[in-house]
Parts: sequence; structure tokens; C-alpha cells
Amino acid sequence: MSPHSSGHRGLPDRPDPLPIDVVDNHVHLDITREGDEPFDVAEAVARARQVGVTRMVQVGCDLDGIAFTIEAIDRHPELLGGIALHPNEVPCLAAAGRLEEAYAEVERLATHERVRVIGETGLDYFRTGPEGVAVQQDGFRWHIDLAKRTGRALQIHDRDAHDDVLRILEEEGAPPRTVMHCFSGDMAMARTCAERGYYLSFAGTVTFKNAKGLRDALSVTPLDRVLVETDAPHLTPAPWRGATNAPYLVPHTIRAMAGVLGVAVPTLCQAVSDTSEAVYGPW
Ligand SMILES: [Zn+2]
Repeated sequence: MSPHSSGHRGLPDRPDPLPIDVVDNHVHLDITREGDEPFDVAEAVARARQVGVTRMVQVGCDLDGIAFTIEAIDRHPELLGGIALHPNEVPCLAAAGRLEEAYAEVERLATHERVRVIGETGLDYFRTGPEGVAVQQDGFRWHIDLAKRTGRALQIHDRDAHDDVLRILEEEGAPPRTVMHCFSGDMAMARTCAERGYYLSFAGTVTFKNAKGLRDALSVTPLDRVLVETDAPHLTPAPWRGATNAPYLVPHTIRAMAGVLGVAVPTLCQAVSDTSEAVYGPW
């Protein structure tokens, strides 16, 4: 059976609603994939609410995305904000001689009452080559320090850089609430993160056919460390892999995760909801 989109601009069909409301822990409503119409924030929020995804963390990780995020959280009470300079953005800003002024802007906005996350920050050895590693690592350390100074949660981007991410978090001292966004490690890494008290946020990748290693990692993650996210517009869960992602597609990921964890769907929904509030505070 091949799924077909219908009804609304070719977007995937609406999944069955979740029995208990959950939070999408990481979404980029400011990013539009090439060839797509922009997804209006109010529309994204309304579509998500219909399926029980009532709140979300909007992440802006370049200066334009950060400005978008501040405006969006001021208008939409369902949203919290995450702001940072992405690990692939830091070397570009440094090369342009604009990194210091960009840091000043992140720092200025980090104390906004509904900016509750510094992120996504971390390391990306896939898109940034060896020449950018040093500046990327300095940028990661700067964001860790900012999260601690402002009392915000930290959301980590880790692409092909597991060992250095874990090492630098240990060297700097991780903030009390540290979230591995779009967790991509194996079972051993999941155990290490849980032992250190980090939270593991799983994206649509956990539903992919070839992602057995990731499902194994989820299976050993304590229920009170588990979060869910879309990373929309990227990483659309099965059966819509390749289509444009949006927060209303979280139910596919939740249902797959409940199966892996061996818990009922309402149990997972309640856990994700409670843990999201524990990490970010009430909103
Ligand atoms: Zn992201």
C-alpha cells in the first residue's frame, strides 16, 4: 500500500488523534522546503491541535530564524522558543567576521520569558569539514555556558560527532536539563545519556525501516527520559518519509515509539507531556 496525500496542498493525511495531548519538542516553523508553500504558524498550530499535539518548541538557529521565533512565541501561547547559532552557522558567521555580534543578539534574547531553550547547538561533522571543527567546538562551549547562566534547557544537535559531543558536555558540565535533539546514537550511547540525566528526543527517523539501531537505543531509554519531536519540515515519519513534515504528524512517531518501548500509547503520551513540562517549565 502506498500512502497518498489528499485534501490540503498535497500534505500527508491527518493521522488519528492521540488520546492524551503531547508536545512537539523541536520544530522549525521558519523553514520552508524548496518547492513548498510556506506553512503559516497559526495553521500549523491548528492542524497539530486537532490530533493532540497542542504545544511545541519552535527552534530558530540563525539570526533570521531567531527573529521569527521571537515573533511567533509572542503571538502563539502554544509555542516556546529555542534560540542558538547552529553548529553549521557558527563557522560561517566567524568567517564573515560577524560571530561576536550574533552571540550578542542570542544573549540579548535568551532571557525572553518564553525562550526556554538554548539550542540547537552542538557539533556537525557531516556538513562542516575539519577546517571548521575548532570554531564549532568553541561555539558549542559558548552555548553550554549561556544555557547555564540563563537557566535554560540545552538542546543538542549531534551529527556524526557522538564522542566529542559527550566529551565536551562532560568537560564543560552539562546544564541540569540537557536534551539530545533527534537522538541518533546506539544503545550504549542511550544508556550513557540516561545515566548522565540527559533527555533523549526521538524524531521520525525512529520509524524508518533501516533504523533498527535507533529503535534498540529507544528500547533501553527510561520512560522518564523520552521526548518526541518532528524536526519539521525534515525527517517525516513513516509512512510519509520524504514528504514535508509538520507537527501534526507526531502521532505516527508516538505510536511507533510506544510499540518499541512496550507501553500503551496513552502511557507514552502522558510521560512525554510530563517530561516536557519538567524540562521547560509550565507554559
Ligand atoms: Zn532542528
